Amino acid sequence: ARRAASADWAGPGATADGTPVQVLANVQDAAGAERAAAEPVEGFGLYRTELSFLDRGSEPTVEEQTDVYAKVLQAAGEHKVVVRTLDAGSDKPLAFADMGTEPNPALGVRGLRVARRMPELLERQLEAIAAAAERTGTETWVMAPMVSVLSEAADFAAKVRALGLTPGVMIETPSAALLTDRLLEHLDFVSVGTNDLSQYAFAADRMAADLGDLTDPWQPGLLRLVEIIATAGQEADKPVGVCGEAAADPQLACVLAGLGVTSLSCAATAVRAVGAQLGAVTMDQCREAARVALAADDPAAAREAVGAALSSDS
Ligand code: PEP
Ligand code: MG
Repeated sequence: ARRAASADWAGPGATADGTPVQVLANVQDAAGAERAAAEPVEGFGLYRTELSFLDRGSEPTVEEQTDVYAKVLQAAGEHKVVVRTLDAGSDKPLAFADMGTEPNPALGVRGLRVARRMPELLERQLEAIAAAAERTGTETWVMAPMVSVLSEAADFAAKVRALGLTPGVMIETPSAALLTDRLLEHLDFVSVGTNDLSQYAFAADRMAADLGDLTDPWQPGLLRLVEIIATAGQEADKPVGVCGEAAADPQLACVLAGLGVTSLSCAATAVRAVGAQLGAVTMDQCREAARVALAADDPAAAREAVGAALSSDS
């Protein structure tokens, strides 16, 4: 198949033989959401709400939060938005969700775990997200970061459903990856955060430049985890997205689609390249790319084998 120029790609996301793979944008504020909406995306697959509040000394009121979220939801127009609840702690510290000095913040009270100590913070955020969804009429899915056990997903899902919204979680820990089938008994979708899933699967700090080879999303060990997650999603017939940096790499996006991932969410600047690459290959080529990537010994071999699988005429 001939590769379309990315600049001409106009969506919606699909392989050359017509299997849909949603292409979505990651956003963090209203200005970025407006820029992202100008790209041919089918919505926002990750709204990192905590990044709207990094400079806030105190918790924004429910009304302030509602206004912030509503602007982002409004920018999505007819499309859906996957809102992530505050992922505070470790690499994204929030002054109003400070957990004190921890010896190992990446393994500490971060993400959904903050709700153990400050349950009302999550309650107020969910209230504001629901109000923003109501105000804008935007289809709003809500997911929690840093989940590792079933009870976290079940409790979160109950809270989100009570507000009439669609619940999911991010798959960022090996435990969550291995439990995806059971997590999906409580949830309507999952989204793989490959940045953190790599960090925790390889026990390699995502901020450590020296360990970048271990947190490379082409690592066959990471792809095996994604295979488990995507297979569980297919068996439950529920959406499995990828919203980490892996989704921004056009060839890796094809591997993820071949593993059974149903949506890819990445920086707005990367969506055209991802969409064009997906549109240039068949689903069979994506499956073959997934097979050879999983069989490779290391990221370099995986990249090379996938390059060949995707450029062969199908
Ligand atoms: C991830 O961990 O892959 C992710 C998308 O979340 P963040 O990068 O914001 O931690
Ligand atoms: Mg993360």
